[in-house]
Amino acid sequence: MTVTPGLIIRLQSGFYTVQTQDGPWVCHLRGRLKKGRRSGDLAALGDHVLVTPLAPGRGLIEEIVERKRALSRTAPTPRGEYQQIIIANPDQAVFIFACARPAARFGMLDRFLVIAEKQGIPAVVIANKVDLVGIETARLLFGRYTQLGYPVVYTSVKTGEGFDELGSHLSGKISVFAGPSGVGKSSLLNVLLPDLKLKEQEVSQATTKGKHTTVVRELYPLPGGGYVADTPGLKALGLWDIEAEELDGYFPEMHPLVANCQFNNCTHVHEPGCAVLRAVEAGQIHPERYQSYLRMRFGETEGA
Ligand code: GDP
Ligand code: ZN
Repeated sequence: MTVTPGLIIRLQSGFYTVQTQDGPWVCHLRGRLKKGRRSGDLAALGDHVLVTPLAPGRGLIEEIVERKRALSRTAPTPRGEYQQIIIANPDQAVFIFACARPAARFGMLDRFLVIAEKQGIPAVVIANKVDLVGIETARLLFGRYTQLGYPVVYTSVKTGEGFDELGSHLSGKISVFAGPSGVGKSSLLNVLLPDLKLKEQEVSQATTKGKHTTVVRELYPLPGGGYVADTPGLKALGLWDIEAEELDGYFPEMHPLVANCQFNNCTHVHEPGCAVLRAVEAGQIHPERYQSYLRMRFGETEGA
């Protein structure tokens, strides 16, 4: 029998909608795939699969193609750890903040970036509402991230500024969006995905907050190719499982310096011969980034 390749774009009570070259097929998993003990989700949004047709618009998932990467969380269960896949094969995480109203919470952005580094997912930053402060002020605020190598796109839903550039970052890719509320995420996604009523959906998600539901259930196709997955925020997804000792490895500006610290268990706070502290004092590491590091390493679980 002929198998057709496809992409899982929707999960709904045990059924998977698979986008194939012949359109979307509603599928379930072939029974043999479910045999044996599982340590994680078998199939997830963003998985590439092979399906066989059952009826028009219906099919059976025969095989799940090996994942390149995944946005996942590990949940403890009575039978051991279980890896829950939030999105398989995301190409990038897109973190949206506002230049003003509300003022950007860089501590939260830094936390998101650490999660993306930990999960091995490239990150893009959107600085929205650039119309409120002007591009120069916006660059003063967000420029530190450009210097670290993260693309920063300055957008305004009001004026349309930055949307061409944003489009070229999103085109053909699977992007996971996250950001705090009020920054214009739904306004922006409503422009990118004109057919969707995301605002309403967000309201219904808010009511289930704290119930540990899987929040993302759908990849939304972009008119120019690629998909967007919306999430209410990575904190809600419980992705923070980073050991204190590995944290410096997720700060691109610290990572290459750590080997030069005098002590190999250096915490970069008070130790003599600390290369990170030297860089902070020399102004080579942004002071707020260093503060974020300290908060994540020692502080309360602020913000994100
Ligand atoms: P969300 O909570 O992140 O989904 O934010 P919303 O999309 O609901 O937007 C919050 C508020 O910011 C609304 O009043 C929007 O009209 C406004 N807003 C969104 N984008 C922009 C922008 O680029 N510039 C300005 N000035 N306001 C915006
Ligand atoms: Zn050090």
